[in-house]
Amino acid sequence: MHTDPAGIRRHAVEVAGRRFGDGLLVIAGPCAVESEEQILLAARQVKEAGADLLRGGAYKPRTRPGDFQGLGEAALRHLRTAREATGLPVVTEIMDPRHLEAVCACADVLQIGSRNMQNYTLLRELGRIDRPVILKRGMSATLAEWLHAADYILEGGNGRVILCERGIRTFETATRNTLDLSVVPALRQVSPLPVIVDPSHSTGRAALVPPMCLAAVAAGADGLLVEVHPRPAEAACDRDQQLDPARFAALMPAVRALAAHLRGAPAEGRP
Ligand code: PEP
Ligand code: MN
Repeated sequence: MHTDPAGIRRHAVEVAGRRFGDGLLVIAGPCAVESEEQILLAARQVKEAGADLLRGGAYKPRTRPGDFQGLGEAALRHLRTAREATGLPVVTEIMDPRHLEAVCACADVLQIGSRNMQNYTLLRELGRIDRPVILKRGMSATLAEWLHAADYILEGGNGRVILCERGIRTFETATRNTLDLSVVPALRQVSPLPVIVDPSHSTGRAALVPPMCLAAVAAGADGLLVEVHPRPAEAACDRDQQLDPARFAALMPAVRALAAHLRGAPAEGRP
């Protein structure tokens, strides 16, 4: 726990021995779990590159009902296998309260996706459990609406909420969404919760992910959520935005060096 320049006491969220809000944590892995082989390989690759947690979707919120919806329970089993093989804690999305028990059996952190930020029934369910939650910003949510959504979880008694900026809808079409990095320092002024940034879904383009990772760190993010796939061109979803393992491995030293540099900066210059 430390105090930022606005005087808000920051609240660190503990996840399997790691602390969001106390140094930079990097979550990496594919958009979706596609097979045991794919998630095991991805887990080994991101661990080797220095990631702190593994991500992978078992239940995917897709725009079109005919698109790949995730492998569901089989994916949860594969995530457990990958966690056992690498020791990386697992982050996965929950969309339906009926999946709570199964998802909690394999995930260290539950993710609420952008489309469900205002699913108050689901948020209330997560308020009742003792498991950290990453609450992504709704694609059209204001900062205030996002924090009210977080209150549904917090007021239920679960204080372990991590906010994730993942881009918002604007008139711009050159990127998938518009990454609102100013929300990171803006949240610092009003909320004690850790804030992480997802440069993958916000830009939708792999080439833009590395610079936006660095920008997010410079803005003061407590963590990054980055999609990394062993073979992005073959991915079942979000092909254009997933980094290949070599690109991710090349990015990580710069991310760590910048975070270390900023930690050593004088307090008034610190994000
Ligand atoms: C995801 O992280 O897999 C995802 C679907 O992201 P978002 O909810 O931000 O679109
Ligand atoms: Mn994705």
